[in-house]
Amino acid sequence: VSAEGDRFDVVIVGTGIAGSTAAMLYGRSGRRVALVEKHSDPRAYKTVCGHFIQSHAHLVIERLGLVRDFEALGAVRTGVDTWSRYGWAYHDARDDRPPSWNVRRAKLDPMLREAAATTPGVELMLGCTATDLIRDGGRVSGVEVRDRSGEVRRLLAKVVVAADGRQSTLGKLAGVEETVKPNNRFAYAAYYRVNPTVRDKQAQVWFLDPDPDYAIASPTDDGLVQFAGFISKDRLGDWKGDVEAALVRHAARLPDAPAIRPEARESKFIAKLEMPNTIRRAAIPGLAFVGDAAMAADPVWGVGCGWAFESAEWLVEATADAVAADQGVDRALADYAKTHRRRLYGHFLLTSSYSTGRRFNPIERLKLRAAANDSTAARHMQDYTERLITPGRYLTPRAIARAAAVALRSPRSRGGGAPSNEPQPTSAAN
Ligand SMILES: Cc1cc2nc3c(=O)[nH]c(=O)nc-3n(C[C@H](O)[C@H](O)[C@H](O)COP(=O)(O)OP(=O)(O)OC[C@H]3O[C@@H](n4cnc5c(N)ncnc54)[C@H](O)[C@@H]3O)c2cc1C
Repeated sequence: VSAEGDRFDVVIVGTGIAGSTAAMLYGRSGRRVALVEKHSDPRAYKTVCGHFIQSHAHLVIERLGLVRDFEALGAVRTGVDTWSRYGWAYHDARDDRPPSWNVRRAKLDPMLREAAATTPGVELMLGCTATDLIRDGGRVSGVEVRDRSGEVRRLLAKVVVAADGRQSTLGKLAGVEETVKPNNRFAYAAYYRVNPTVRDKQAQVWFLDPDPDYAIASPTDDGLVQFAGFISKDRLGDWKGDVEAALVRHAARLPDAPAIRPEARESKFIAKLEMPNTIRRAAIPGLAFVGDAAMAADPVWGVGCGWAFESAEWLVEATADAVAADQGVDRALADYAKTHRRRLYGHFLLTSSYSTGRRFNPIERLKLRAAANDSTAARHMQDYTERLITPGRYLTPRAIARAAAVALRSPRSRGGGAPSNEPQPTSAAN
């Protein structure tokens, strides 16, 4: 303990997906890490969330060596079948496609926290809330944390990592402003014990465009299915009085939906009435933001968990050597901020734009229509929605021209849920 505080290489605030991932990776690179979490219960978890971790996160999960841990929790591997007024675009489960993972946060968060806490070099501090930043000149050089007894500790580090989620306290303390874009939907969800979906174990999403409402049914561990409605805010009054009935009514609107009934419900309702899209610069000297603290995107797309894994990995890749050498750390942080923006800003703009509740534009309609009628177009769309490719690659002139050619020879609207591009059975592990 130095005169002014306890010294670490890295202090990470938050033990959600982003914080635990960053702690494991810094720990494995030989760094000394303080991992701070305001909850004192090691089994705490994020209650207002789905469980859908899209395939773009699979490589990080694999590199963390956690595939077996996911399997031990009963995590389900899925893809996504997407319904629009043009019919179903079915998930193509070929062997070369990374899976999406589904495991409830009640199981995932404690597992990740424990994996982080047992990584050599990582010291987990439960029941400690970060309350202030420590600065050295213009640079962030540590955090003050307060434990449950009110005792304050000063933790000094070469890098402070804000992994403290939406409405990041560290972001506010550092004065790093967010860009905020409105989200004109609210969400209600619950877990049901129902037969998963028409195509066993695939998640289903419904874009009800031109209606702004949206739904998702996604199977997970313990044979449960989470059913969620993302609904235009002007309909909140129809939902608030009787959420149970509203979820049942919502499911009844959907082609090929699982049988959502009150007696099949196995959880409390999950509600989120305000979920604006936020993004901020992902690093300033001495301080990095990962996961939702850097960017919280519209949950409709089921992307936040995956980007929490990925952004933590980008941060550690960019900074681990500089932190080890204690040289060029702020330059490495600036590189991380650039990577974050390059990888995610386009996604942020598109997801924020759709979260206004607007209708699909002609190009989006073209893409959906092509995907419902052609398995190559469906695969390309899935690469994008599973965030395996950037918006730039999804929307190349060539890809749009191809979608137009397919769409022109396809029906305008299918109305119901008749299969159109059912892939041939494969030997994929789904
Ligand atoms: C309704 C809804 C549904 C969603 N569904 C999905 C989905 O299906 N798939 C998906 O990919 N994403 C989904 N998301 C998004 C997902 O929840 C987030 O993107 C993800 O949890 C971000 O992880 P994180 O580690 O950045 O933050 P969090 O999981 O929020 O973790 C932050 C951690 O920091 C701790 N903390 C906060 N402040 C302090 C402090 N001052 N001191 C110490 N500790 C602190 C918290 O206790 C917590 O442990 C959904 C979001 C919502 C709102």
